[in-house]
Amino acid sequence: MGKALQLLPTAASDKALLSRLEEEAGTSATLCYQCGKCSAGCPVAFAMDSTPRQVIRLLQLGLLSEALEAQSIWICASCETCSARCPRGVDIASLMDALRREALQQGKINDKKVAVFNKAFLSGVKSFGRTYEAGLLMQHNLLTGQFFKDAELGLPMMKRGKLSILPEKIKGRDEMKKIFERAQELGGV
Ligand code: SF4
Ligand code: SF4
Repeated sequence: MGKALQLLPTAASDKALLSRLEEEAGTSATLCYQCGKCSAGCPVAFAMDSTPRQVIRLLQLGLLSEALEAQSIWICASCETCSARCPRGVDIASLMDALRREALQQGKINDKKVAVFNKAFLSGVKSFGRTYEAGLLMQHNLLTGQFFKDAELGLPMMKRGKLSILPEKIKGRDEMKKIFERAQELGGV
């Protein structure tokens, strides 16, 4: 968190937004006493601009825009380690998820590459029931204009059987599609 933050009384609209996000996430940021156990256990905190503890603090302070614009919410891998470790029972992973959905809806995405990756990953899972790595990389590179990014890694990975040219499909693809349809009915984007 590089830039200085100016603390003002929380706007009513931000209070209402926080209540809605907490309701969607089924948890409350106000329970957090800033012990930092979530950040200490987060496997990707090193790559975040605000650690999970800091994201929760932004919410507590009513700095909703800052939380929605944090790259951290896109870097979060939804592993739920933070939620499992929290001594106050704050479901941080679920709040991260609610923040991601809200940021998408508001078009507040600081790092377009991360959002593109996120969409490409989900579209592969929706179509094949599991991630299709080669397609994911090609789609990501095309949409971000980095046409040959990591291209040199493709062949060695294929030779070692770590990357396949064609997608592997799971049996329960219809069920997977239903999960996505249900998520959209519930407001997913
Ligand atoms: S582990 Fe829980 S109480 Fe501790 S900083 Fe994280 S959210 Fe707050
Ligand atoms: S759910 Fe996200 S924020 Fe929590 S530990 Fe995993 S990656 Fe970090």
